[in-house]
Amino acid sequence: PDLAFDPAKMGQFDIDLPGAEEGWVCTRFPPEPSGYLHIGHFKAAFLNQFYATRYKGRMIMRFDDTNPAKENAEFHQAIWEDMQTLRIVPSIVTHTSDYFDVFLRYCEQLLRAGKGYVDNTPQAQMQEERGAGIESRCRNQDVETNMRLWAMMQEGSEEGQKYCVRAKIDMQATNKALRDPVMYRVSLIPHPITKTKYKVYPSYDFACPIIDSIEGVTHALRTTEYHDRNEQYHWVQDALGLRRVCIYDFSRLNFVKSVMSKRRLKWFVDQGLVEGWDDPRFPTIRGMARRGLTIEALRLFIFEQGASKAINLQTWDKLWSINKKVIDPVAPRYTALTKAAAVPMEIADGPAEAEYRTVPKHRKNPTVGNKVVRYARRILLEQEDAALCQAGTEITLMNWGNCVVDEVVREGEAVVRMRGHLHLEGNPKDTQLKLTWLAEAEDLLPVKAVTFGHLITKDKIEEDEKFEDFVNHHSKEEVELLGDPSLRSLKKGDIIQLERKGFYFCDRAYTREQRPLVLHYIPDGHIEKE
Ligand code: ATP
Ligand code: MG
Ligand code: MG
Repeated sequence: PDLAFDPAKMGQFDIDLPGAEEGWVCTRFPPEPSGYLHIGHFKAAFLNQFYATRYKGRMIMRFDDTNPAKENAEFHQAIWEDMQTLRIVPSIVTHTSDYFDVFLRYCEQLLRAGKGYVDNTPQAQMQEERGAGIESRCRNQDVETNMRLWAMMQEGSEEGQKYCVRAKIDMQATNKALRDPVMYRVSLIPHPITKTKYKVYPSYDFACPIIDSIEGVTHALRTTEYHDRNEQYHWVQDALGLRRVCIYDFSRLNFVKSVMSKRRLKWFVDQGLVEGWDDPRFPTIRGMARRGLTIEALRLFIFEQGASKAINLQTWDKLWSINKKVIDPVAPRYTALTKAAAVPMEIADGPAEAEYRTVPKHRKNPTVGNKVVRYARRILLEQEDAALCQAGTEITLMNWGNCVVDEVVREGEAVVRMRGHLHLEGNPKDTQLKLTWLAEAEDLLPVKAVTFGHLITKDKIEEDEKFEDFVNHHSKEEVELLGDPSLRSLKKGDIIQLERKGFYFCDRAYTREQRPLVLHYIPDGHIEKE
C-alpha cells in the first residue's frame, strides 16, 4: 500500500506497541455499517494500517455488523468505497456476521460454565441496578433454566424477546463495566446479510473479544472511552479460554462546533438539515471531499496527530491550513466577480474589438497550464473595489497593467459606472489597488459560490447537553458570481482559486443543461468565513 510516510517525520507515531514482534503483528479496523466513514474513522484506519505496516504485519478490515436495527447495505457499500478513496488497503476483509454460529456456541459455553445467565429484567431497571450494584433475581438460576430460556431467545418467541444473556462477573465491581454486561439480545429485524436466519445478536462486548482472538488480532487499537471496558474484554477471553489480545488505547478525534458520531450525523440526515451523508458541512470523508479537502492533507493532519492518548478536540483551522499548503501550489487561478452591483468601466483606449491573450493559470507553476483572457474596452469591476476609486486614482488591472481612473459615477453609496484610460508604462508596484476584472460580454459564466459554516453553535457539547439544542440554522450562504468564460472547462472535483476570493471546489460542472457552475468555498485556515 502507498503510505507516503516520511520516516524522518514519524514524531508522535514513534510509539511502540507493547509486545509487538516484526512479522507477527495483526491489527484491525472494525467500522460498523451504520453510517458513512468520517475523519475520526480515518484516524483509526490510518493508525491500524500504520502499525501493521511498521511491524510488517497484517491489518484486518472488519465490518462490525451485529446490530441490524442500525445497519444496512447502503452504509456497507459506502464504507467500502470510502476505504478506496482513502487508499487504506486491508490484508483481508471480514464480517462479524461471518461468525454468528461461532458466537452462539461460545454463548452456550458461557452459560454451561455458569459464567452467564439469561435475564428478563427490563432495560431501564437493569441500568439502575447495574449502577446501584443490585443483583438480578435471574443471576443464580441453574444451568438448565438458562439453557431453556436461551433456546427461547434463539427462537425469538414473544416470551424469549423479553430476555437477554448477561455475563456473570461482579455486581459489586468498582469498574461498572464488570457489573454483568449484556452479551446477547433478541432482535427480529432482518440482518442485511444473514436476513432472518438469526433472532439473537451478540453485543459488541461479547463479539469483539471473541472475534479479535480467533481472527488472530495481536493488538486491538481502541479509543480511550473504551478504557473502562478493557477488563471486561479480557474477562470474556479468559472465561472462554481464548487467547488474550493486547489492547492499545488512542484518543478519539473530535472537532469544535461539529458532531462526529454516526448517530448524531444520522439525525441531521433524517431531519433534512443537510443534503445527505456527503454534505460539505459533515466531517464525513465524502462531505469533506466536497468541501475541497484533499486526501493528502487529511493524511498529513492525522500523521501530525499521531497515536497520542491526549483528548483531542481539534479546531478546524489546522486541517485547513495544511490543505491550503497542498492545493495552493497546483490550483489554477481564475477570475469571478460578485454579480450583484458589478460596476461597468469604460477604458477609453482599450481595444475596440475584443482581443485575446494567453496567460498562465498559475503565476508560479507553469505546469498548471494556460488560459485565454479577453481584453475589451468595456470591463466589469467588483463594487467593493470600485468604491475605493475616484478620479485620478491609478489602479492595476491584473493580467493587464495600470490604468488611471477618470470618472466615478455614484448613485448614493454605490458606484454605477466608471471611466478610465490605460497607463501601461506605470509600475504595478506603485499602485495600492490590484483589481480583478472581466471583459464585459454575453458569455460570462453564471456561478453559484457556496460558503459553509459549522453545523453546531457551540465548541463542545457537554455530557449533560443535547446537541439538538445547538444546531446552527444559518450554516450555508450562497452568492451569485459572474465567471471568466474559461471556467467552463472545470470538472466536478476540480480545485481552483478565484483570484482575491479564495479556493473553491467545483461541485457541479457547467453544461448547457446544468447551470450555474457550483463552487464550494474551501476554508484556508486563516479567514474564518462564517
Ligand atoms: P460513531 O460514534 O461515529 O458511530 P463508533 O466507534 O461507534 O463511532 P465504529 O464504526 O464502531 O464507530 O468505529 C470503527 C472504528 O473507528 C473504531 O475502532 C472506533 O474506535 C474508531 N473511531 C470511531 N470514531 C472515531 C473518532 N472520532 N476518532 C478516532 N477513532 C474513531
Ligand atoms: Mg462501534
Ligand atoms: Mg457509534
